Amino acid sequence: MLTDGLGRELTYLRISLTDKCNLRCKYCVPSCGVERMPHDEILTLEEVLKLTDIFTKLGVTKVRFTGGEPLVRKNVISLIQNVSKLTNSPKICITTNGVLLSDYIDYLYYSSVHDINISLDTLDPLTYASITGQDAIAQVFDSIRECLNLGVNLKINAVPLKGINEEDIPALAALSRDYDMSVRFIELMPVGCASSYTGISNDEVRRKLDEVYGEGVEDGEGNGPATYVSYNGFRGKIGFISPMSHSFCSSCNRLRLTCDGKLKLCLASPLSLDLKSLLRSGASDEDISHAIKEAVLNKPAHHEFNSEGFVSQAGNMIGIGG
Ligand code: SAM
Repeated sequence: MLTDGLGRELTYLRISLTDKCNLRCKYCVPSCGVERMPHDEILTLEEVLKLTDIFTKLGVTKVRFTGGEPLVRKNVISLIQNVSKLTNSPKICITTNGVLLSDYIDYLYYSSVHDINISLDTLDPLTYASITGQDAIAQVFDSIRECLNLGVNLKINAVPLKGINEEDIPALAALSRDYDMSVRFIELMPVGCASSYTGISNDEVRRKLDEVYGEGVEDGEGNGPATYVSYNGFRGKIGFISPMSHSFCSSCNRLRLTCDGKLKLCLASPLSLDLKSLLRSGASDEDISHAIKEAVLNKPAHHEFNSEGFVSQAGNMIGIGG
C-alpha cells in the first residue's frame, strides 16, 4: 500500500496521456496557446503501461486517463486493453471532452471502461463555442446518447464561471433529472490561466438549484471528493466538488502522472518526481517503486489555493490533466 507522510492511502492515479487537446477551453488553455512538448519528452505507451503496472503493484486500484484530451492520443485503446490485462488490473476510468468519444465508445466499453466523465460546461451551442473555441457540441451530445445506450456509468462535469455559464447551471443539472447520469459542479481552481476567471462557489450553485428544483437532500459522498445531493424526481444525483470552499485534502487519495512522466503529489504544487528519467536511465522496477514510496511521503498536507497572495506554479490544467 502506498501511504504518504500523513497516513493517507494513495489508491488513485490520474494519468495524463497527452498535452494536446482538440478544444481550447478558455480557463484551461491560455489564449496565447501553450508550447507543445517535444514528442520524445512524452511517455511512450509502453512506458505508461510499465508505470501503471508498478503503481498497481504498489496498491493503486483505480486509474483515470485524462489529458489534454486522452482520445487524441494514438493507440489509446490498445493501451487501455493492455492495462485491463495487468496482473493487478485497476478500475479504468476516463475523463474526456466527449468530442471524439462516439468513435471510441464501443472499444472503451468492451475494454472494461464503464466509468466515463464528460466535461461539458453548457448546453447552449453558442456559449459552448465561446468557452471551447469549437463548434462541437453536437458531437458531445451524440457521445452522451451513446454512453446512455450502452449503460455506461456517466458523469457530466461542469465548471461554473461568473458571467459565462452561470445561467446554464439549472439546465445542466436537469440532465440528471431526465437521464441516468450524475451531473457534478466543480469549483474553478486558480491554476494557470484560470486565475483570470471567477468561479462560482458550490454553496451558490446549490442555492440556485434548490430555488429551481426544491430543496435537495444530502445523498452520500461517492468514492472521491464529490458530495452528492438528490432532487425530487431526478433519476441521477447532483455532485459538488468544492476544492475552494470545502477542501477535501485531508482525505485526498490521488496522485497524478503527467504526460512527460512527472509524478505530481498535489495538483496545486510544483513538487514532483521525474519517473521518465528514472525509467530511461534503466532503473529497475524495484528502484522505481522505492523512489515512488519515498516521494509520496512528501505529499503536501493541503493545497494553498486560498492562501493570501497564492500564485500558481503548477502550469495550466491542460498540462496537468485536471
Ligand atoms: N480533455 C479532457 C476533458 O475535457 O475532460 C480532460 C482534461 S481536462 C483538463 C479535465 C477537467 O479539468 C475538465 O473537466 C475541465 O473542465 C477541468 N478543469 C480545467 N481547468 C480547471 C480549473 N482551473 N479548475 C477546475 N477544473 C478545471
